[in-house]
Amino acid sequence: MPTRRPTTTCGVLSAAACLLLMGCQMPTAEAETMPFDPETARERAVEALLVQHGTGHQERIRRGVEQLAQIWRESDGHTEAFVQFARDEFVPAGDLLNDTFERFEFVSESMDGYFNAMLRDLRRGVDLDIGPLLPLDRRLAAFNAAAHLSDDLFAGKIAQTALLNFPLTSLREKLAQGGTWTRRQWAEARLTDRFDARVPASVGQAMTAAAASADTYINSYNIYMHHLLTPDGRRLFPEGLRLISHWGLRDELKAQYADPDGLSRQRMIRTVMERIIRQEIPAAVINNPLVDWRPAENSVTSADDDTAVDPAREDDERYRQWLGMFHAAQLADIHQPDQPSLIARRFNVDREIPEEEVEALLEAVLASPLAGRVAKLVASRLGRPLEPFDIWYVGFKPRGKYAEADLDARTRARYPDAAAYAADIPRMLQELGFSRKQATFLAGHIVVEPSRGAGHAMGAARRDDKAHLRTRVGAGGMDYKGYNIAVHEMGHNVEQVFSMTLIDHTLLQGVPNTAFTEALAFVFQERDMELLGLDTSDAADLKPLEAFWATREIAGVALVDMRAWRWLYAHPDANPAAFRQAVVGIAAEVWNTYHADIFGVRDVPLLAIYSHMVDGAMYTPDYPLGHLIAFQIEEHFNAHRDRFGTEFERICRLGRLTPNAWIQQAVGSPLSAKPLLKATAAALSRQEKDQTD
Ligand SMILES: [Zn+2]
Repeated sequence: MPTRRPTTTCGVLSAAACLLLMGCQMPTAEAETMPFDPETARERAVEALLVQHGTGHQERIRRGVEQLAQIWRESDGHTEAFVQFARDEFVPAGDLLNDTFERFEFVSESMDGYFNAMLRDLRRGVDLDIGPLLPLDRRLAAFNAAAHLSDDLFAGKIAQTALLNFPLTSLREKLAQGGTWTRRQWAEARLTDRFDARVPASVGQAMTAAAASADTYINSYNIYMHHLLTPDGRRLFPEGLRLISHWGLRDELKAQYADPDGLSRQRMIRTVMERIIRQEIPAAVINNPLVDWRPAENSVTSADDDTAVDPAREDDERYRQWLGMFHAAQLADIHQPDQPSLIARRFNVDREIPEEEVEALLEAVLASPLAGRVAKLVASRLGRPLEPFDIWYVGFKPRGKYAEADLDARTRARYPDAAAYAADIPRMLQELGFSRKQATFLAGHIVVEPSRGAGHAMGAARRDDKAHLRTRVGAGGMDYKGYNIAVHEMGHNVEQVFSMTLIDHTLLQGVPNTAFTEALAFVFQERDMELLGLDTSDAADLKPLEAFWATREIAGVALVDMRAWRWLYAHPDANPAAFRQAVVGIAAEVWNTYHADIFGVRDVPLLAIYSHMVDGAMYTPDYPLGHLIAFQIEEHFNAHRDRFGTEFERICRLGRLTPNAWIQQAVGSPLSAKPLLKATAAALSRQEKDQTD
């Protein structure tokens, strides 16, 4: 049944004449006007293949033909074309099938690898600190050169060939059977996974454009701290301090725990954060060193002559950007009937842990009765009642005892530029426990560059390309924050090099999901002080408490993110103002459920400050998952301290299995919050005993 007629080019002709004309001029298009009947096509293809190859191949034939029929569109050809395609492209098990698999693996690495390198180059202007950001840079970053790849693989019937010959597996099958699969079976599963839906390129482009817009918004959202004034006109922060929201603000808040006068600065940062979340922040103070701002009363004056400046608020840009991500995600929904929302795709496809399981893990940490006892300990260590920003308390971390300025001086002297950091990588890796050979190999596969934003790690996708480490390096050298992030990103890079360059099947490159790469990066970040030669001897005892407190904080953030997306799907027509109100309400609700009793204050919106909520499309749950996984992995490394390097490499080379299969093979137990809670309880008892002794 012809569903579409060309009206644009033949508008003056009658429908009949039009079809006639098409028939003579474009014989190949005739297929498009012929019917494709999936039922008949399936039956006839199976029949033909059984005759051709014998009933010994029945199972693969039936499954392959079914998968092909699911993805086949009328535009691919009529019933006869379908049957012919199946006859031509089905490969019986044996050497030829092995060769077919090998070809797929080879070209997948090549295509992904070169596109990855190209995208890295297209983003160079926005990602690297290489001078003023050009209008062109934003345009280039928004351009996804690989946007049409999936379409083209279907148009060339390359995707269909994969689906005819290799099994497409659901999350349910992977969870149930993956434990017994061979490496080759896993690799085949990853091959067909990429063709599980047929989403038009325009949809992917819309997502890239929305993310690029949100990214740029986030990456240029700085607060000039010296220009913040107390109600009585005092400046609490040094000249030149420019902090990106939210990372910079949050990390400065954390750093102030080491300063005896830090409390007033922490309170001021809390006010700034809440102004940002509620969008009460005056537009004039964002990224602008020419005005002074009194956050408490929300007034703005010129930094030059103290005259009043229009305090008009930023409107709802934060929530407009976030909505942009939602609207882009919605475009994909109709093309993926099995995963009809970004929520479903995030959990079932990207994370491969069911949503309920993630939520249960988060709640296990948040609802733990240990929280009240840890909070009491925090308050006693601080010598004051808790305030809401103490969700970011870092006093359990060894670095709490060193002043930020002292740390800055050390890292600046050591790393005047990105090259100095790069040159030090082999030493750092060996101190962490990698062999000289591993360290040299890894260092040779990591490029260090100064970033425009907070920093990130960009892995390679081809064995002979390199991973890229981007971190912020100021004019006076790398400050402690930049260094801390660099060590974290270096962890990502090391994982990326092992899980790409040294993997047995490149189709399995990477880790199960981003939470795992975060976990492995945390293992590095934990040791940043050690790598500076600083004393961390008291760290081990307090470590579970630090991990528990940090996981609890970010688990709350993740719940806010998840509920915000659920709200969006329940209110798809919301405007930015309504969405802002919803997010502020959700953040307060999560706060009231898990934090209010402990902190003695209700309706705090602070959990909604995370910038990744805006541009990350529900990325934040990966952080608490990362903490839990990191804790399990860390315990494993502690038990095998003598072979950290070989274990790290072995674990990274497991590649992209499902999370549960991966953690089982990595540490020998399933994904769980129990090890963290158990260790927290033990550490807590030791501390409480110390206090009463
Ligand atoms: Zn990371």
